[in-house]
Amino acid sequence: MAAQSGPECGGSLLIPMRVRVLSRSAFVCYPLERDAPRGMPSSSINLDRQGGIYITNQHPQAHRCYDSPVVEQLAAGAARLGYPLTSAQLSLFETYRTELRLWNEHTNLTSITEAAEVETRHFLDSLTVLLALDAGEAASPCLRILDVGSGAGFPCVPLKIVLPQARGSLLEATGKKVRFLRHLVTVLGLADMEVLQGRAEDLGRLPPHREAFPLVVSRAVAPLATLVELCLPFCSVGGSFVALKKGDITREIEEASAAIGILGGSNLRIINIPLSLPGNDRCLISIRKVAPTPDHYPRRPGVPAKRPL
Ligand code: SAH
Repeated sequence: MAAQSGPECGGSLLIPMRVRVLSRSAFVCYPLERDAPRGMPSSSINLDRQGGIYITNQHPQAHRCYDSPVVEQLAAGAARLGYPLTSAQLSLFETYRTELRLWNEHTNLTSITEAAEVETRHFLDSLTVLLALDAGEAASPCLRILDVGSGAGFPCVPLKIVLPQARGSLLEATGKKVRFLRHLVTVLGLADMEVLQGRAEDLGRLPPHREAFPLVVSRAVAPLATLVELCLPFCSVGGSFVALKKGDITREIEEASAAIGILGGSNLRIINIPLSLPGNDRCLISIRKVAPTPDHYPRRPGVPAKRPL
């Protein structure tokens, strides 16, 4: 359907909307167009006395309109990371969770579906990448983040919600996940966010992407020795690659040390996630890109996994 903007329905802005009914007089709408105004997902539609509808502007408490608003852990965790969330950001996370649940009914995106778990194990876990950035890097308008093997958008989409000035790129090989990501970016109204379909081994060789990103991130895609070959070619010299890992990573790091050097990486840091944040035994591995990656890397699709350097 198309809904008009402005309480008096007199505005000229027409935005195609998807509408979810919450009660007899309350709805939540999602803009379907890429260029819809920012913040629209947390707007609400109301009925007027004539039975017409109007869209209220973003309301500070708008996130409370959503179903099962289990946002406390997320809000508290983000504040602990030094990034307290606005109600507009919380509202975007609520919309994200709802879309993930709806799409997961027909598309296998994640095994984590329970609301509180999505908040901690997907959203908050993704935001821990912020621990690897200094305040200047995080706030920089030049920040470009590439997420390699983004799946349902983790960790880059939560990062983009918290760092709206950053440009984001989601790289994913699987078509159905790419379709979800494109839908999600539209519904959340995320500006400067692209979705790239393909294999990291192919895109990492192409000039627009190669050594173009000050920050490359990746979670749950491959062991570190393989992952650095997929990720470091995208990283600009002076930038960094951050992998989200769990458990004992000593062996994984040992096995990756030769590959890191060959591909232009150095200064590996392990950042343990503080126990005050939910999630067990998780850490970040941050690697600085100090030299260009030699031209013949990454190797052909599948080779980095089959024969890690
Ligand atoms: N990062 C997400 C998804 C992890 S599952 C999360 O943490 O939830 C791993 C994802 O990486 C899958 O969706 C898979 O399709 C993608 N992937 C694996 N190898 C890839 C490659 N070489 N290039 C691009 N995407 C890849």
